[in-house]
Amino acid sequence: MTTPRLTARTRLSSVLLAAATALSAAWALSGSGAAHAAAPQVRTQAPGYYRMMLGDFEITALSDGTATIPLDKLLKRTTPRELERLLGEAYLKPQIETSINAYLINTGSRLVLVDTGAGALFGPTAGGRLLKNIKAAGYKPEDVDLVLLTHIHGDHSGGLSIDGQPAFPNAVVRVDRHDSDFWLNPRNIDRVAQSERHSFAEAAASLGPYQAAGRLLTFEPGAEILPGVKAVAAHGHTPGHSLFEIQSRGERLLIWGDLIHAKDVQFPRPGITIRFDVDDAAAASQRQTAMRSAAREGTLIAAAHIAFPGLGRVRAAGKGFVWIPVNYSRAGLTD
Ligand SMILES: [Zn+2]
Repeated sequence: MTTPRLTARTRLSSVLLAAATALSAAWALSGSGAAHAAAPQVRTQAPGYYRMMLGDFEITALSDGTATIPLDKLLKRTTPRELERLLGEAYLKPQIETSINAYLINTGSRLVLVDTGAGALFGPTAGGRLLKNIKAAGYKPEDVDLVLLTHIHGDHSGGLSIDGQPAFPNAVVRVDRHDSDFWLNPRNIDRVAQSERHSFAEAAASLGPYQAAGRLLTFEPGAEILPGVKAVAAHGHTPGHSLFEIQSRGERLLIWGDLIHAKDVQFPRPGITIRFDVDDAAAASQRQTAMRSAAREGTLIAAAHIAFPGLGRVRAAGKGFVWIPVNYSRAGLTD
């Protein structure tokens, strides 16, 4: 018979269990509870900058933070099913947190900021982190000599001014003539969808202080802005949407602006467009052309809305493309 032995064993287990419980209660009261306060959670993100060298130029990717947008309501030339499948493959849902990136180029003699983030336009929780991150990266807004805009949309030019004052007090602002002619002229308001008309008032508020001070200058498509910094026209997303080609000692970076908004959807299907495109057929064809040439040449790309720092390369895959983020690097940098 085994029953009496089992009973004894069960009794022994209960005694041991009771002892263990008492010990752990004592530990909780004395050791961890009294000697150390619980460490409060910090809940801040890492400083939003990423540095790399490009020949003799120092490039700093700057985060303006993120904005959460409903891709299912914004993307065009697709179906809900296709969208769900493409986003699902990337473990994402249509309500997506999108990076807003800008890029700072120190040529050694000039400090050039490409795009400014949204400033206060998206409210306190979205965007608006650019100035904080410029400082975290070791620069001051007054150090910026030149601001280049890929185009005049709130998330690229909204950070230019704060309460009617230039946020970059020593900078000249330059943008493709076709974009300033379009967005700074309220007569064009009927040429965009109702949902995009707020951009006209935002453009006036952000660029106006520079215009009033004679510090807003335009450039023509393809213009060389500085030695090693050249505009490349990619009109479509907006009438003067421009890329910037940065070159130093044979190394090359192409800043794409808004050539792409939804990485996991528009690399595999470059023909899918977004409601923010003023001319979506032109935007789609610019995207296709740029991706094909980036894949062929292995070009280093910087993109405003690809997950921060938005730096990587493109590879052809089937009828579309895939994004290859840069390898994390400290090459050419000190502490
Ligand atoms: Zn944008």
